[in-house]
Amino acid sequence: MDLLSPPVARILPAFLDQPADALRTWFADRGQPAMRLKQVRRWLLDGRAESFEGMSDLPKDLRAELIGSFAPLGTRIDRHLQASDDTHKLLVRLADGKSVECVLIQEPPRRTACISTQVGCGMGCVFCASGLNGVVRNLTAGEILEQLVRLRNLTPPDGRLSHVVVMGMGEPLANLDSLLEALEVAGHKDGLGIGARHITISTVGLPVKIRRLADLGKQYHLAVSLHAPNDLLRTRIVPTNDKTGINEILAAADYFHEKTGRQVTYEYVLLGGLNDSPREARELATLLRGRKAHVNLIPFNDVEGLPYARPTVEAQTAFIDTLRRAGLSVKVRKRKGSEIDAACGQLRRKVEQELAPA
Ligand code: SF4
Repeated sequence: MDLLSPPVARILPAFLDQPADALRTWFADRGQPAMRLKQVRRWLLDGRAESFEGMSDLPKDLRAELIGSFAPLGTRIDRHLQASDDTHKLLVRLADGKSVECVLIQEPPRRTACISTQVGCGMGCVFCASGLNGVVRNLTAGEILEQLVRLRNLTPPDGRLSHVVVMGMGEPLANLDSLLEALEVAGHKDGLGIGARHITISTVGLPVKIRRLADLGKQYHLAVSLHAPNDLLRTRIVPTNDKTGINEILAAADYFHEKTGRQVTYEYVLLGGLNDSPREARELATLLRGRKAHVNLIPFNDVEGLPYARPTVEAQTAFIDTLRRAGLSVKVRKRKGSEIDAACGQLRRKVEQELAPA
């Protein structure tokens, strides 16, 4: 499936990207009551409107002013792929021509949006297509929010997003201000109504930002992408590890748990022959023993151009058994949408390659 959404007037600023104060002033300058802002937001966030024309409870002249001043949404859908398990992947084109991916995973009543926070990624994890060309820029709060809106608009008319995982392109904590701004609207009852407890923020481990997140007193769930149980191996897989080291990251994650009471998830991509041996399983068990931790194992999905392999079933089973015997809670992530390049960054890479001059 390949649907193109209507083009947007790119020269106009996106309504959802404007700070609330600026919008309040904009309405007040036109003699409009404060509730107008709420009405427009409700249309865009709850009413699935993608234009101002149809906002029937707004005065006609105000609709005309809005049309002349803003684009309701600043992004457009460049590619839309749907897998047989009803996983959807969108390549979202931003106003400056850059693109990011986002994914809707549907297991009703659970509907999970996986969103991006940066164009590209500067963390350079060796198994990841998103980081292959480094980071281009941070997304704005509106661009993050619009991914949620566009994914929610794919759900049935009475459907809503129940969960958000911030695990798409980019390091979320490297763009924390914009992310928090977007999640604030997403969590609001007049926004998308997704409670903080249903939102998971993933990070390769930026200790200062993890502590800042902990101090907010919000109930977001934290997922730390560990991928190796010692610094030598982790720095090979996640190069930015050489600046921090595992101990500092775990200390920050412990602090997050103390402050929020929430269990931390440790993500571990199993790369065949690299970090999936019984020795690494034992080391990981020792590292996490005594912590209120959950381990999410992710068997690597092949990515064209990357020299890593999926772990064997035997290696996966042995790894899980070792962790469980050590008393850790462990899950293996199910593979969703495999036929639509659902691994992070693959679709964007493919489209950019198609568009590149020969
Ligand atoms: S796995 Fe995440 S943090 Fe690592 S390069 Fe990819 S997008 Fe960045």
